Amino acid sequence: MPLAFLYSDELKEYDFGPGHPFRGDRFQNFLPYLKKQLPPENNYVLLTAGEATDEDLLRICREDYIEFTRKYYAAAHVGRDYDDDFYLFQSGDNMPIGRPGNVEMAARVVVGQAKKAADLVMTGKYQKVVSIGGGLHHAKSAYGEGFCLYNDVAFCAKYAQEVYKLDRVLVLDSDAHAGNGTADYLFRSPNFLFIDIHQDPMTIYPGTGFAEDIGDGDGKGFKMNIPMPVYAGNRSYALAFDELIMPVVAEFKPQLIIRNGGSDPYFEDGLTRLGLTAAGFRMMGDHVRQMSEICGGKQIDLIASGYNPDVLPQIWFALLSGIAPFDVPVVEPRPIPARLQADFAYETSKTVVEQVKNHLRPYWKCFQ
Ligand SMILES: [Zn+2]
Repeated sequence: MPLAFLYSDELKEYDFGPGHPFRGDRFQNFLPYLKKQLPPENNYVLLTAGEATDEDLLRICREDYIEFTRKYYAAAHVGRDYDDDFYLFQSGDNMPIGRPGNVEMAARVVVGQAKKAADLVMTGKYQKVVSIGGGLHHAKSAYGEGFCLYNDVAFCAKYAQEVYKLDRVLVLDSDAHAGNGTADYLFRSPNFLFIDIHQDPMTIYPGTGFAEDIGDGDGKGFKMNIPMPVYAGNRSYALAFDELIMPVVAEFKPQLIIRNGGSDPYFEDGLTRLGLTAAGFRMMGDHVRQMSEICGGKQIDLIASGYNPDVLPQIWFALLSGIAPFDVPVVEPRPIPARLQADFAYETSKTVVEQVKNHLRPYWKCFQ
């Protein structure tokens, strides 16, 4: 079955303005690159989705937050002020610069894509659906931060669980930053296994996602944070997948897998300090495809991050080649420095893996 991509030109409006690090043109090179590497026939299809409605957003957001966000960004887009308390609902990094794009509308398209992805996968139209522009994992129910307004990861998980009556949804966040917003939504529920592998929160925004944070209440034991040491490379990530992620997912037996995160764990991302190469992303994609066999291949991929536009298409392609799978060779866009070839963070990663196991041992047979 071909891989289905959700994308529309409206996503370019997800743009906080000139000089802001999150610009709408970041991923526009990906689809042309994909087409150049691989013909669509039998490989993939391109689809679009509409904007999420207020009713959709109310599944994950407080009403006053939606109203403020809609009015504020609509005014900013046309160069007007909307005088309300910005910092009550949004962090400084979501403050537009100059004339932003129609950010709030684009954020609704991202959630609309998450909804359509869930419908397509759960009704069996496609096994695997990729939402380009998705994975806005820092947004919370009444607070936007980290360039995220509406959390499509949490939406996708909750929507699929509520509408399709699922008991077990896996959310795997492989973005370099911890999914603090997603954690906020899913922390207390055993219906969601939330696995979040990211750069050590002591060294990067948002500063959450430590190994000892394993969920709360009924959700205790269903959250796994894997704080990877600075410059952790392919071997470190392979170890985390083989020792932690794959065994727990096999025991959890998800009915649906949602993965989010783009190319920001790449060693030359610019905004992060991890050590993955294209081969590491392909390895992650291969693991995600393998684990999706547990649930008949049902997997949704939300992909947006990556702050080095020169390597973003190649790295996304390496990751998605593993997920699809596409029978293509891995191409490294840049020479790999010697220090990363050896993965000098590997010994520290081994310690981290043991710490994560120790915290979760009481909850999972595979660690006993
Ligand atoms: Zn990120």
